[in-house]
Amino acid sequence: MEVPPVCPICGKEGQNARLIGSASYCNAAGAPSGGSVWCEAVCTDCDVDLRFTSKKGVPSVWYLIAPEKSQLLRLLSNDEVEAITNKMQRYKAIGAKWNALLLRRRPGDEIWRYQFNDKHTGITVVRNGLPIACFNTIGSL
Ligand SMILES: [Zn+2]
Repeated sequence: MEVPPVCPICGKEGQNARLIGSASYCNAAGAPSGGSVWCEAVCTDCDVDLRFTSKKGVPSVWYLIAPEKSQLLRLLSNDEVEAITNKMQRYKAIGAKWNALLLRRRPGDEIWRYQFNDKHTGITVVRNGLPIACFNTIGSL
């Protein structure tokens, strides 16, 4: 691994670092003109997923696979979380993904709605004010 994974929450080294994808580019003349890599890892202490994306020669850091604080919209109540849970259980794959998100919660963690593009919203777990995970579907939640 070009840059060892470091968890931005606890500062410890992440585990299970793996290359997810890479690409190399050519210019119009067919000569190599750089490339990029995409890696993922986990921090088992914090139970968060980490990602690293880099372009060749451009320094990068590992970051949480989660929205930015600026994308947070609103804290959801327990009733709202329960209503989404009931809705999600109708779909096998997405229901399992939703349950996995809820299992990440620790005491004090909150469930928030966030904006992920102009039209759509998703759900995230917020720990000490920091989004640490994300969940989204084709539509809005
Ligand atoms: Zn950590």
